[in-house]
Amino acid sequence: MSTSSFTMPFAGNDLNACEHERDPKELQAFLNDPKAKAMLLDRGRPALLPEGGLKWVKPNDLIGQNIADPGPLFLGKQGDVPVFAFSISTENALTEIESFQDMRVVAAQLSPMELALAGQAKSLFDWHDEHRFCAKCGAGSRGNRGGTTRQCDSCGAAHFPRVNPVTIMLVINGDDCLLGRGHGWPEGSFSALAGFVSPGETIEEGCAREIFEEVGVTIKSPRYVFSQPWPFPSQLMIGLICETDDRELVIDANEIEDARWFSRDEVEAVFAKRSDAFKRPPRFTIAHQLLRHWLKEG
Ligand SMILES: [Zn+2]
Repeated sequence: MSTSSFTMPFAGNDLNACEHERDPKELQAFLNDPKAKAMLLDRGRPALLPEGGLKWVKPNDLIGQNIADPGPLFLGKQGDVPVFAFSISTENALTEIESFQDMRVVAAQLSPMELALAGQAKSLFDWHDEHRFCAKCGAGSRGNRGGTTRQCDSCGAAHFPRVNPVTIMLVINGDDCLLGRGHGWPEGSFSALAGFVSPGETIEEGCAREIFEEVGVTIKSPRYVFSQPWPFPSQLMIGLICETDDRELVIDANEIEDARWFSRDEVEAVFAKRSDAFKRPPRFTIAHQLLRHWLKEG
């Protein structure tokens, strides 16, 4: 979050995680609470109401249904309302009437809070899906503590969800900014350059390395702006603005398809929908918010 009036899409989750109320007995009491509510996700896609907004159900209505590992995912409490998420399959008759949608398509139909909660649930379910076996001994593991950890009963190891840091940066030269496009992107789409932070790197070093690898440009003074939890599957996007004196681009065609300098006027015109010089990144992305931030700074 950069200002009080702005919530970064997928951020702003206000739940109390109830870290000290997650033993099986306490979780059962939360499930039985008449105020409790649960969202449904199928392969990371939340169920929506026909008019938009998350569809909420009573957790107890789902007991006995075909609920995927790790079972009821306890996200925490919103005031005195226990909030759960369930991963289910649309092959299940229960869910035929539901409408499951990719959050990248329907982000605008969800409130900021719903987007944050559904994003958190998706990241955790994706992690469970890919960590069914203990990384230490190879035995099957199970969800624990309401689905926020996994436990191996064979060797006793506890496993915790991963968040992968990614730097995403707007490179600036004078009044121009550098945008690139990946292979296979929709025609005309350009966005900020981005890359995973590698072991042994600071955020600033990761940012400088990625830019040099992708476009051959040396940057100076990377400046942190804001960050975003990105649930596809579980990145922390770290938004930076950095300057360079290099105008000449040496594009690595293995990494990206194209990169170009765009003037502030061009970007402003695209954001005001007065120009289609390029297709801007969608509003729910940190790249969109970085570009907006830069326009406001100018
Ligand atoms: Zn183990």
